[in-house]
Amino acid sequence: MNDEKISRTDLSELGEFGLIDHLLKDITATNPSTIKAAGDDAAVIDHKDEETLVSVDLLVEGVHFDLTYTPLKHLGYKAAVVNFSDIVAMNGTPTQIVVGIAVSNRFSIEALDELYAGIKLACQQYHVDLVGGDTTSSKSGLMLSITAIGKAKSTDIVYRSGASEHDLLCVSGDLGAAYMGLLLLEREKAAFIANPNMQPDLQGNDYILERQLKPEARIDIIEILRKNDVKPTSMIDISDGLASEILHLCKESSVGCRIYEEKIPIDIATVQAAEAFHIIPSVAALNGGEDYELLFTIKQSDFEKIQAIDGIHIIGHITAEKDEAIMISNDGQAITLRAQGWDALRTNSA
Ligand code: ADP
Ligand code: MG
Repeated sequence: MNDEKISRTDLSELGEFGLIDHLLKDITATNPSTIKAAGDDAAVIDHKDEETLVSVDLLVEGVHFDLTYTPLKHLGYKAAVVNFSDIVAMNGTPTQIVVGIAVSNRFSIEALDELYAGIKLACQQYHVDLVGGDTTSSKSGLMLSITAIGKAKSTDIVYRSGASEHDLLCVSGDLGAAYMGLLLLEREKAAFIANPNMQPDLQGNDYILERQLKPEARIDIIEILRKNDVKPTSMIDISDGLASEILHLCKESSVGCRIYEEKIPIDIATVQAAEAFHIIPSVAALNGGEDYELLFTIKQSDFEKIQAIDGIHIIGHITAEKDEAIMISNDGQAITLRAQGWDALRTNSA
């Protein structure tokens, strides 16, 4: 944050309806499916012959985000993008969002403008229309609920439940960085509380910070898969760590899997940060969360098509052993994956 004097307009100066008008003033809808955007009692959406996908997330200050190190603009961007990610994980395209906010009078109009600047930027970037919401007051901090609406042809939709034996397990991008970014921000916050004169030491950590503060939904991945004529058999987005999402896929598909620690994609910046924090990098990938990459399975016959695509990594395969998710560690041990596999992994690979 800089020391520039920022003007502060009290929320009470506009009132609820004035605030809504203010927040929505330069918003225009561009998707043909948006028949009626904000302004009436409900938005009207027409996805014609496509299915409608709906997903909601509720974020509570102090529980899901910490405004001491999360700029409001980033919070707005991230809150929108993580919802787009849920639609993308169904192999769909996000088209509209509605935004519910509860704010205490600790927040100014300018602060909400920042929040909405982030939401609007995300909408612009992903060609999504902001078509409504609800605004109310809160006695304790900020709450933000975003509902994303999307579309997909019924034959394109990919569920968590479609994996079968011999399918290949793939992940996009790299994992664990967002978690390392969070640890870094938490560390600098603690240092600042201990000594308010100290400046945060975030230098050289751009990648992991960006992964934590400005995640992206991998709509590019589902587009490239489509272009290459690959339809995943099952898919989920990685919001809670690879281990947890693998277990969801296996459970919903009534299968097991075997993955290889050495195949988990981890960026060098993540490895370096993990070392500084005395954490095994793959543990950050398995249990960290908030990467918003895609975990999906493909038919073995699509192996060559997948290999030709940059940024997709095959980390293992599906087995018939129901709910048995095994990771072969770098030293050759078979480790049972758990949603919180931290301790097990620590003792096994130290
Ligand atoms: P109602 O009383 O019928 O819920 P509101 O006065 O709350 O209507 O909202 C008026 C319009 O403004 C609606 O179209 C609603 O979707 C939209 N709206 C309200 N709050 C927000 C917000 N925080 N963000 C975006 N749109 C909003
Ligand atoms: Mg309302």
